[in-house]
Amino acid sequence: MDTTTTPHSGRDYNEMTDAAFRAEVRDWVQKNYPEELRFPLNRLHHKDSKVWYDLLSEKGWLAPNWPREHGGMGLGPAKRVIYIEELERHGCTRVNDQGVIMLGPLLIDYGTQAQRDYFLPKIHTGEHIWAQGYSEPNAGSDLASLRTEAVRDGDEWVINGQKIWTSLGNDANWIYLLARTDKSAKNQEGISFFLVPTDTPGVEVRPILTLTRTDDFCEVFFDDVRVPLDALVGELNSGWTIAKALLGFERIFVGSPAQSSLALSRLEDVARETGSWEDSAFRDRYMLLALELADHVSLYESFVDKLKSGEKIGPDVSLLKINQTELYQRIAMEAMELVGDAAGYVAPQDSEVNTSALWVHTLQTTIYGGTSEVQRGIVAKNVLGL
Ligand SMILES: Cc1cc2nc3c(=O)[nH]c(=O)nc-3n(C[C@H](O)[C@H](O)[C@H](O)COP(=O)(O)OP(=O)(O)OC[C@H]3O[C@@H](n4cnc5c(N)ncnc54)[C@H](O)[C@@H]3O)c2cc1C
Repeated sequence: MDTTTTPHSGRDYNEMTDAAFRAEVRDWVQKNYPEELRFPLNRLHHKDSKVWYDLLSEKGWLAPNWPREHGGMGLGPAKRVIYIEELERHGCTRVNDQGVIMLGPLLIDYGTQAQRDYFLPKIHTGEHIWAQGYSEPNAGSDLASLRTEAVRDGDEWVINGQKIWTSLGNDANWIYLLARTDKSAKNQEGISFFLVPTDTPGVEVRPILTLTRTDDFCEVFFDDVRVPLDALVGELNSGWTIAKALLGFERIFVGSPAQSSLALSRLEDVARETGSWEDSAFRDRYMLLALELADHVSLYESFVDKLKSGEKIGPDVSLLKINQTELYQRIAMEAMELVGDAAGYVAPQDSEVNTSALWVHTLQTTIYGGTSEVQRGIVAKNVLGL
């Protein structure tokens, strides 16, 4: 294991050629990434992915998206794409990264100096693990109708309400959330952004057991939860603008072909196990899926090229997510057909090829980050002008 590099070496990776940077990332990942964590099918809990979080943190590679003065790698778009491609290629797990991807950049742009000084180092070290508290039972796609509210009482905010579908909320010791602070304002205008430790009296985190028998979602209840005034990020009632400002760059990565590509290789494994690999009718269907994947790869690459050249990513990026997640589903469905009755059996998560877990996972992808229906609405309105 490489222990020679000091945390955040202060290097400017943007000065390297793309090829040299790619080679360095590939080499380090190959030498250091724990073999047993390659290509996990499910989102891992922090206790299982912590080893990778710590390695990235020690290396100074936890936050490719943060400026170097805040301990990040400060990568420009082209280098960031390479970094993500190399980690995906090797099958690296996603760490518990809400602090890194969402909160850190948001504090850098909208937080006070005191908030940056306090929170950013603790994200780096993993002392603070964050969860995202946006969705509510009646506010998902229509997030702006959220009802959790925060009312000022002297030197404190008092928060009441409920969040749901909080990914890995049971691993987090902090949650960032959107709450209504002005009921008389128009929906999006009366929302503010807060930071809350999950051990505050009145916060209750309840895991939800999913179809795959994992507990990677939670409900989070807030019952007269009192937090100091500086738990507010940015201006009062500007939470919506703050939360939306971040969604730009990351949007192309939910369209990455990595998931479909892995699923296709799993489909081949299943076909070989069940004997269908020799069946020409199956091979026709397999080839069609492989061709669809090749199409998707070129669509994805056209967006990556735009990103690398600094072009703005438009609303047509929604096509990427629709295309990838629905192809991913078709591939998993083909595997379900192959295993037949056995598909109903949810085998242990560490099973080599767990078709029903794969299938259930594909369903999630058409929901998070904007459902397929909502993405189609965006394409209809903002791309086709309908
Ligand atoms: C894997 C996963 C992880 C998640 N992690 C988090 C998290 O960490 N934190 C968090 O806050 N939330 C999280 N979510 C929640 C996610 O953001 C919501 O599930 C999503 O926004 C959809 O909201 P909803 O579930 O309330 O469904 P709804 O919005 O109620 O939608 C129900 C159905 O109606 C359709 N629909 C809704 N509006 C329209 C429309 N305008 N036009 C056409 N059809 C429409 C939808 O497409 C869907 O089929 C996660 C979800 C998943 C699946």
